[in-house]
Amino acid sequence: VKVDSNTYVLELFHGPTCAFKDFGARFMARVMSYFNRNESTPLHILVATSGDTGSAVGSAFHNVPGLDVTILYPEGKVSKLQEKQLSTFDGNVRALKIKGTFDDCQKLVKTAFTDTELRGKLRLSSANSINISRLLPQSFYYMFSSLYVKNNEAKNNGIHNPEIIMVVPSGNFGNLTSGLIAKEMGAPISGFVAATNSNRTIPDWIATGKYEARPSVETYANAMDLGAPSNYERIAAMYSLDQVKEMFGSYWLDDEGIMASIKDCFEKTGYTIDPHGAVGWKAWSDIKNGELKALTEGKKNDFTKPGLTPNVPSWASAVTEKKNAIGVILETAHPAKFGSIVAEATGKDPE
Ligand SMILES: *Cc1c(COP(=O)(O)O)cnc(C)c1O
Repeated sequence: VKVDSNTYVLELFHGPTCAFKDFGARFMARVMSYFNRNESTPLHILVATSGDTGSAVGSAFHNVPGLDVTILYPEGKVSKLQEKQLSTFDGNVRALKIKGTFDDCQKLVKTAFTDTELRGKLRLSSANSINISRLLPQSFYYMFSSLYVKNNEAKNNGIHNPEIIMVVPSGNFGNLTSGLIAKEMGAPISGFVAATNSNRTIPDWIATGKYEARPSVETYANAMDLGAPSNYERIAAMYSLDQVKEMFGSYWLDDEGIMASIKDCFEKTGYTIDPHGAVGWKAWSDIKNGELKALTEGKKNDFTKPGLTPNVPSWASAVTEKKNAIGVILETAHPAKFGSIVAEATGKDPE
């Protein structure tokens, strides 16, 4: 969806649970079922969720032969709609409510995988984005959307050789890593904006060079409430920190900023964006409205405040001089999934 002269929104929420995770989860379920077809015992999937993964995985694996799913979610920290979506399956899918945070849930899952006694009794696997089969299908929508923009932009808007920047609201960084895979496969993507909420482990790493996992904090964009992103290891294995700084603009936003961004996007474009996509909207708006230019002119941003981290990505001149940058904001959830927050920001219940 084109929302202004140099911004597209890539709506990834048209699957059954209204979040982009349906892409990865549904592909993964069928692939796992296929490769388990000759086994005599079920494969047990353990999955930790901060809200959206549980429902996407539950829906994807429900009634798929040979698979058994246990979802762990933090009590009181997912929205009512999310809880209904993830806890009302029967048959091969069950949900356990944990007193703790998402990180506690993820730690239980990771501990189970390293427990040799348990692994002797049960065949275990993961459905979190540490599993590569979630990332591979996601790389296709980067390929499709970047080619679409590349091939249509000149015709629609007179930008002849657009440089495409994918703006990715991120938590575990599985989605963004899928974009890196697409870029390595040849997708015409010039760079990325790694956008997080107040859980700013990755922006801090890019700003300081030190990676420090930490406990997660709750935000309005709860599917990104992660203090120890699982795909950090993948990104750090694929690229040096200097390469990351060249490829990524990096940005974080607090809850107040998320509310203001939902409102701003709605007022400027008429588009209703969810709290996760709103982090991307604000990041891209700031980049276009002079914040990136200020960095190129030597401004030193304070990375402990919401905004861009101080690194200048290699594609900066496409925004500041050549004016041929097109942003594609990945809209990872339907706004109605976070209806009360969106209604408070815009004054209108989302459809
Ligand atoms: C999971 C999720 C994210 C974060 O995706 P990662 O791959 O974990 O970075 C962002 N937005 C929504 C709505 C999500 O469900």
